[in-house]
Amino acid sequence: MENHHCIIIGSGPAGYTAAIYAARANMKPILFTGAEPGGQLMITTEVENFPGYPDGIHGPKLMEDLQKQAERFQTDIRYERISGVDFTGPVHKIWTESGEVLHSHAIVIATGASAKWLGLESEKRLMNKGVSACAVCDGFFFRGMEVAVVGGGDTAAEEASYLAKLCPKVHLLVRKEHMRASKIMQDRVINTPNIEVHWNTETEDILGENEVEGVKLKNSKTGEISTISVKGFFVAIGHQPNSGIFENWLDMDDAKYLITKAGSTKTNISGVFACGDIQDRVYRQAVTAAGSGCMAALDAERYLTSQGIL
Ligand code: NDP
Repeated sequence: MENHHCIIIGSGPAGYTAAIYAARANMKPILFTGAEPGGQLMITTEVENFPGYPDGIHGPKLMEDLQKQAERFQTDIRYERISGVDFTGPVHKIWTESGEVLHSHAIVIATGASAKWLGLESEKRLMNKGVSACAVCDGFFFRGMEVAVVGGGDTAAEEASYLAKLCPKVHLLVRKEHMRASKIMQDRVINTPNIEVHWNTETEDILGENEVEGVKLKNSKTGEISTISVKGFFVAIGHQPNSGIFENWLDMDDAKYLITKAGSTKTNISGVFACGDIQDRVYRQAVTAAGSGCMAALDAERYLTSQGIL
């Protein structure tokens, strides 16, 4: 069985950037795309904050370009999911969903995080037509318009505060009579005049055929149904790091994000590195993911050199 130098798991900005650096350092990386090639940016429309694109770029186009750049340096890209890992030995083992086993000295994990969704049919239908899970990415398109944010945690509070600078009115839909967000974030929301908090409020449906026109709400205490008229609907009910297959192998925090050593991408296992949203619950931006992908490839290269492998 061949021992590869470097296997990268994940195909968002972190994974592809790691591949570009690893391939140029002669590590002959194999990159597994996972079930959603391109990651979260594939469900974004225009990306206007990735440096180097003065006119913005579509999320899927950005990912296509990153993939091409990785392929230009002979990254071996495989459209498969990894279903299991074994980090016992000095050489790490991974299993693909089709049952293949691969051995590699270095592993770069870039499996990302996925936004949680409400699960409504209208939410799927109106995705990118007014429904978004990222105010920093998409808020600009709703400037001057009324919008709603659903959620009661720090993300929802942050998204509502961000949108309040662009929009005349932001409706924050909180399903309980209190928020989970930190006190300082709650205070900020409550003291912002153009944010209206709707307590005990559940989203029954998002209205509109081809674009968001409003939201049907239900008061969970009184059962009262009402509607609000909005053009944007931001879901901010948390993210789920895609770390399930690393359980029992890698150190994780209470929300299952992988823990890396400060100032590096090293995990608790030698030769296993993590980059992008899988290890970042704070910034979660394409550019920070790409930056940490570069760090992971450099850390992997140094590791392979120190082991006399490269
Ligand atoms: P959280 O899990 O903290 O909060 C999720 C929120 O969404 C909760 O209020 C929850 O309600 C609500 N929710 C969940 N499901 C539904 C649903 N189906 N319908 C309506 N509401 C729902 O996620 P966050 O993304 O807000 O935060 C994740 C972590 O990241 C936290 O530790 C947070 O502190 C941190 N963070 C820190 C920031 C900062 O420091 N600047 C910024 C952003 C995040 P309920 O309370 O009823 O369960």
